[in-house]
Amino acid sequence: MKIQVLGCCQGKLPGYYTTAFLLNDHFLLDAGEIGELLRIEEQYNITDVLLTHAHLDHIVGLPFLGDIIFGRNQRSISIISIPEVIEALHQHVFNNQIWPDFTQLPAEGPPIFKLQSIPPEKTCSIGEFEVIPFPVCHTVPSVGYLISEKDVAFLYSGDTGNIQQLIQIINRTKHIKAMLIEISFPNRLKKLAEQTGHLIPASLNKLLSEVNRSIPLWLFHMKPQYMKEITEECREFQRQVRILRQGEILYLP
Ligand SMILES: [Zn+2]
Ligand SMILES: [Zn+2]
Repeated sequence: MKIQVLGCCQGKLPGYYTTAFLLNDHFLLDAGEIGELLRIEEQYNITDVLLTHAHLDHIVGLPFLGDIIFGRNQRSISIISIPEVIEALHQHVFNNQIWPDFTQLPAEGPPIFKLQSIPPEKTCSIGEFEVIPFPVCHTVPSVGYLISEKDVAFLYSGDTGNIQQLIQIINRTKHIKAMLIEISFPNRLKKLAEQTGHLIPASLNKLLSEVNRSIPLWLFHMKPQYMKEITEECREFQRQVRILRQGEILYLP
């Protein structure tokens, strides 16, 4: 499985983009950034977009993706998530006020986007992947995902403030080969992290001590203004972790 990091931060500064990963060159996991790194042909190649929640830093690439492929698409791109997220996109983004309703355009031929709801906790096949959404603890309806291709899987936390639930899933799912987990604030902003449903380095250190085997931990969703502090605090972990960077490509297994 190929995982290209299109964006892995929670804010924008030069060189820092918001959260999106491209799997096997065609499957987007969150859509906080698309156009900074993907050329036009690469954007035409996208078949599916799987979203964790409707916060702007996870969806803001979608309106511009629709605009790029408008008039060129031979097929619809599926945008997939839990019902609350799909409803929020319809009501608040593709509503002909903030942006055109790309589920109804163009008038002839397949629409740009097809919105698709999936139930939490159920396995769903999308192309070569099997995905299982699991609810996480955030300020709006949100899920993380267990994503598998054949016998290789990784856990994607989405935005969450609760590690115990992640630990349980990881410990009972033997074919997880990597953990992609959010980290947003440095330790001194613990209260703010709790209020906003996010994690700090100390929570991840605890996760590492309770996971029952050694699995690579890849971190994303850092607020760029705290990147230096977060990086320093993660250096104190007993185990090596990787703070992801925009543009890098990871392979599993
Ligand atoms: Zn969020
Ligand atoms: Zn976020």
